[in-house]
Amino acid sequence: MELFFRSGSPIGTARVHVDGARRFVTVQPSCGKCGGMGVGPWRQDGGRCYQCGGCGVLPARNEKVYDAEALAKLRATQAKRDATKAAKQAAAEAAAQAKVDAAAEQFNAANPGLIDWVRAKRGGFFESIAEQFAKRGTLSDAQVTALVRIREQDAARAAQGTESQHVGVVGDRHRLVLRVRLVRSFESMYGLIWLHVCEDEGGNVVVYKGSKELAARGETVTVDATVAEHGEREGVRQTIVKRPKIVAA
Ligand SMILES: [Zn+2]
Repeated sequence: MELFFRSGSPIGTARVHVDGARRFVTVQPSCGKCGGMGVGPWRQDGGRCYQCGGCGVLPARNEKVYDAEALAKLRATQAKRDATKAAKQAAAEAAAQAKVDAAAEQFNAANPGLIDWVRAKRGGFFESIAEQFAKRGTLSDAQVTALVRIREQDAARAAQGTESQHVGVVGDRHRLVLRVRLVRSFESMYGLIWLHVCEDEGGNVVVYKGSKELAARGETVTVDATVAEHGEREGVRQTIVKRPKIVAA
């Protein structure tokens, strides 16, 4: 009768020990660490394999062997176990998704239109919020508060017709009259860097980040500057400028 290891490979001519109903074959596995070479690219001990001590094999052990029928039975049991596990996992995933869906429904009832508004916005902040919502079906109170505030600001700007627009042509120099809304300075590997968030006369957001301090917060300054980029941050269009030259303070 042909016998097999649990892996399904035939035992060949190996000697079989019998212990009651069990049958074993003594195997001496070759060392996986050094591939049976006994040495490898290791610094200490002249490269001697630390797993097998240089002999290339691991300690002998008894492995159970099976006839074809017993092996088929084992495999069927394993397949059944795998199927049960997969079904359980699928059920758990479905239950988790149902929970998220229920939470989302509740959230949308409490905050009508908020998530639709978030999904329609561009920018990493909104994308990250939408992603979190898809995962959890809800948002934190702090997130809701922040979003509601931004949405109100959006609505107010739209109502006044002062929603920030991009200014000028990218690459061109333009004369801009800027009121500084926010200034921050920080050390960088290039020295002190000034960040200015400004508004031009049309209420459009203009940002300058660089080595020059333009003006203090609340002050107005006239500059000639090159438009570096037309961007957007938290849903507000902003124009990034570089190389500003102060014309009048
Ligand atoms: Zn080894």
